[in-house]
Amino acid sequence: SERESLYLVSEFANTYFQKILFKTDQGKSIGLSYFKERGFTQETIEKFNLGYSLDEWQAFTDEALKKGYNIEFLEKTGLTIVKDNKRFDRFKGRVMFPIKSMSGRVLGFGGRILTNDKKAAKYVNSPESDIYHKSNVLYGIYYAKQSIAKEDNCYLVEGYTDVIQLHQTGLTNVVSSSGTALTSEQIRLINRLTKNITVLFDGDAAGMRASLRGIDLILEQGMNVKVCTFPEGEDPDSFARKNTLEELTIYLDENAKDFIQFKASVLFEESKNDPIKKADTVRDIVNSIAKIPDQIKREIYIQECSRIMDISESVLFSTLAQINKKEL
Ligand code: ATP
Ligand code: MN
Ligand code: MN
Ligand code: MN
Repeated sequence: SERESLYLVSEFANTYFQKILFKTDQGKSIGLSYFKERGFTQETIEKFNLGYSLDEWQAFTDEALKKGYNIEFLEKTGLTIVKDNKRFDRFKGRVMFPIKSMSGRVLGFGGRILTNDKKAAKYVNSPESDIYHKSNVLYGIYYAKQSIAKEDNCYLVEGYTDVIQLHQTGLTNVVSSSGTALTSEQIRLINRLTKNITVLFDGDAAGMRASLRGIDLILEQGMNVKVCTFPEGEDPDSFARKNTLEELTIYLDENAKDFIQFKASVLFEESKNDPIKKADTVRDIVNSIAKIPDQIKREIYIQECSRIMDISESVLFSTLAQINKKEL
């Protein structure tokens, strides 16, 4: 079938990028040394099938065509870009991260640039295809699924390197939505394995408010959400590099806050001296509580928020009732 052909091309590309990384001068001197500088061990690089794409216009495409792969499928996976009858490799001079399904099939790739060139996109990702539906995929799920079920918790991080570095440190129940905003489908994948998610934010606060909204989707599915932030300028990857597994675990245990408590304390702290902001924050928090299907949990959270924010329970309950009415 056509989908099968797309899987085969992607698998070929995966093997090819690894071969380039380990067996060519450019791969070794640029790609492999980049990964080593980031603290990835040989074992980790092999486990995650990391690779490298040559800094040439069509090295991969030529090789794939030579091996008999059809240009139609190369184009449909996005590995080859066809323009004015010319063929270009999508990934050029980048370290490669294959993105796998729950069962380990290669669906697409993320490629990271090696320079700090602010004009070029730091990451280039495969486009959507018949086998790669971004909203249904979590980076690392193939490696994490068993330990998510066993630990009965899933850590959700922002990037590929966060997943890899945490795995290497010994925390293996970690996945990432990598690049896209968190979707309900991605949460459903996790929901099959555990009811508990701990979201680990980068310490740059950039996308934090947007991410906070994504978290309502987790509450909607009746799951428990905790959040943990990192010191300014750190992300899970950089933090894990500087700490042992024991230190990391202690940090997570001490800093992971229940999501609603997090919103109530952190956001509320920011806005409490401004009555208008404070009102917005209260509504924002009650909105999140309204997503929780379990009535008893809703009630407990309302009581807690009332205490933290110093607003009467009855006002919060009537706000909740108004929100529910609007949604009907
Ligand atoms: P690194 O440590 O290599 O700089 P990172 O994962 O910390 O990577 P962030 O800037 O924190 O990078 O971004 C988080 C994730 O968002 C990335 O892993 C990637 O999946 C996605 N992303 C970041 N920049 C881009 C981009 N320019 N285009 C597409 N996706 C991107
Ligand atoms: Mn970030
Ligand atoms: Mn980051
Ligand atoms: Mn990073």
